[in-house]
Amino acid sequence: MDNKIDDTDSFKFIALGGGSEVGRSCHIIQYKGKTIMLDAGVHPAFSGIAALPFYDEFDLATVDILLISHFHLDHAASLPYVMQHTNFKGRVFMTHPTKAIYRWLLTDFVKVTSIGSTNTLYSDEDLLESFDKIETVDYHSTIEVDGIRFTAFHAGHVLGAAMYMIEISGLKILFTGDYSREESRHLNVAEVPPTKPDILITESTFGTATHQPRLEKELRLTNLIHSTLVKGGNVLLPVFALGTAQELLLILDEYWSNHQDLENVRVYFASSLAKKCLTVFQTYVNMMNDNIRKAFRDENTNPFLFKHVKNIKNLDRFEDFGPTVVVASPGMLQNGVSRELLEKWAPDSRNSVILTGYSVEGTLAKTLITEPDMIPSINNPEQMIPRRINIEEISFAAHVDYEQNSKFIELVDPKSIILVHGESNPMGRLKSALLSKYSKFKGTDKEVKVYNPRNCDELSLKFKGLTIAK
Ligand SMILES: [Zn+2]
Repeated sequence: MDNKIDDTDSFKFIALGGGSEVGRSCHIIQYKGKTIMLDAGVHPAFSGIAALPFYDEFDLATVDILLISHFHLDHAASLPYVMQHTNFKGRVFMTHPTKAIYRWLLTDFVKVTSIGSTNTLYSDEDLLESFDKIETVDYHSTIEVDGIRFTAFHAGHVLGAAMYMIEISGLKILFTGDYSREESRHLNVAEVPPTKPDILITESTFGTATHQPRLEKELRLTNLIHSTLVKGGNVLLPVFALGTAQELLLILDEYWSNHQDLENVRVYFASSLAKKCLTVFQTYVNMMNDNIRKAFRDENTNPFLFKHVKNIKNLDRFEDFGPTVVVASPGMLQNGVSRELLEKWAPDSRNSVILTGYSVEGTLAKTLITEPDMIPSINNPEQMIPRRINIEEISFAAHVDYEQNSKFIELVDPKSIILVHGESNPMGRLKSALLSKYSKFKGTDKEVKVYNPRNCDELSLKFKGLTIAK
């Protein structure tokens, strides 16, 4: 087999979403007449059509396969729209746990986005019809579709998250999706694939920032919660219904077991998805890390059946007296239970809201970080609510920081790096840091190129005379 790539062929990349922004991830890659779409998300700061990637800018009928990295809304929530309301006719792949969770999450997404809105992207029927057409993949097993080969690797981040290594006519591309390299309570860290890609498409969420070490972070979180409760305040933890939420509940459940004085303080997990998703987490314990598998095996109990956490669907039966901790979705306080509780608790300075996820530009969670004096009521935007609640940010977002990202890039060793999934400033800083790290190779055959394309800008890379090592 001739491993030399034709000089005339160029690799093309276009971000229809997630280019110099966080949200509505959707990237197109093309090489030798094959077209692959990576993710199909929505933007959490917008609603309806405005939340979609720029699908009009590309002929979706030309897409051969669409790979979904994980179930988060900014990576998967426009999939039913793509499959039911565009000329897309390719095949769609995701991992088993992603598909299992995707179903419940999107049912909830349809429900939440259709409240008081005629601007919905798709219906429950669309969701169900598209669901049956989605194909699942196992980690580490290579699938070939029409000359395109791809393999899913563990990405950490959330249950079911995958990185995809894609190979087209000898050219290898690794797409990280969202990934983490820090051992969490329930997941393994992202793995380094055994083969080197020519092109790496990586997230840049945290840019050049450094994460606080895991133990310090947990300690800060539990101390803050404990001290708020002691002075009679309530604690609100806005979270995305799945992923970090379960991680936080594992931390709280353990902390409550070790602190008798908290025995009478209720911890609620307020999500309409809590029960359904527990089943999914139970089913896929075999895809989690050794700690969880060991607990599951030795104690014969499901670690996700919490001893101190009460699941509630909404606030109808929530008794708001005495200090409580509520872990509630959505994570960016756009609407729903977390927003309702924030508005209720905002005027009292004894209360605390702790932001543990990544807050996207344009959402209330992001505004809150600036400690505004007033916040707008969701039901009546004219009405402003005084904000005296204490605001803290302790990130459990499960994305790599600079140290982890640059180390991973070094291990993966690509020729070209395309940065996605980051606001333009942190992404720009990451690009500069990587360029200066690799500046010693400039002008040599080891030169590393770094790109940070904006949405809809076509990036074309030539792999002139490059020989692919097998
Ligand atoms: Zn994610």
